[in-house]
Amino acid sequence: MIELKNVTKKYGKVTAVDNISFSVKEGEIVGLLGPNGAGKSTTMNMMTGFIEQTEGEIIINGYDITKKPKKAKKSIGYMPEGVPLYTDLTVKEFVTYMAEIKQVNRKERKEKVEKIIEKTGLKDVEKKLIRNLSRGYKQRVSMAGALVGEPKILILDEPTVGLDPKQITEIRNMIKELGKTHTVILSSHILSEVSQICNKVIIINKGKIVAVDTPENLENKVNNKNCIYVTVEDNENKIDTIKNKIKEIKSIQLTQKNEDGTKQYIIEAEGDIDLRKIIFNEFAKENITIFEMKKADTTLEEAFMKLIEGGNK
Ligand code: ADP
Ligand code: MG
Repeated sequence: MIELKNVTKKYGKVTAVDNISFSVKEGEIVGLLGPNGAGKSTTMNMMTGFIEQTEGEIIINGYDITKKPKKAKKSIGYMPEGVPLYTDLTVKEFVTYMAEIKQVNRKERKEKVEKIIEKTGLKDVEKKLIRNLSRGYKQRVSMAGALVGEPKILILDEPTVGLDPKQITEIRNMIKELGKTHTVILSSHILSEVSQICNKVIIINKGKIVAVDTPENLENKVNNKNCIYVTVEDNENKIDTIKNKIKEIKSIQLTQKNEDGTKQYIIEAEGDIDLRKIIFNEFAKENITIFEMKKADTTLEEAFMKLIEGGNK
């Protein structure tokens, strides 16, 4: 559906996007994730034909965006970064104007505009000037603009930036819903957002792709250490002898002393075995009482940072 091959964008001496390649299949919801200045907007601007790449090839729905821009653009709905332009138009005027630009059949135009306004929850404000709307509504207007012409692909640049939590939830739900019938690429610098909405994540930093994977796999990739946190009461100080007794344990480290006399340790397993059963049985034998036991998962946030650091080396 979408393919980027060795795409580079240079602004003078600045390389904003550096030889990236990736593809997006029909129906996927892909997150372009990276910190500010990573090259997300530049990538999206090239994919939508707003700017031309310095090198490389971009194929959208079978058409080269530089050679067949009209045909390629037909299947794309684009929601650029920031607030919508044309703030002196009413919501309805704006969506109608977009329908003209996108050459929606004149006979169907009115009906299609209605439908989109309905779908994006803008019916109540359709006669208001865009500039008088709240940030959340403006974002919906932007989304409505992207939906005009029934594009198969939606490219959404930081769709939740500047919104309050309620508006963020609304937009996210809207994207999830649209994801059922569209191929979606969205950019974000928030990892939890991407992992909630997307089934594939492309991590980009300093113009380069650092990782492409599912949110789940990304976590596993950086977290090959298999660790368990245990909080125990160990009055006889037996924990020191435990390590030698259980061959599956690689290391034990004290992480916390609690006021009630319990201690928390992080225990690392050899290989990828789940230590919990072994710990439970062996600790009981040694008269160590377990108060709490949990797997020490790397959060996606930590995974993100590790991947980005790795990409900078
Ligand atoms: P992101 O959207 O991930 O925050 P951008 O694609 O906006 O990143 O920017 C990537 C890099 O390219 C940044 O270093 C930015 O300063 C630079 N850049 C973006 N647009 C321009 C431009 N029009 N002229 C010069 N440099 C630019
Ligand atoms: Mg950006």
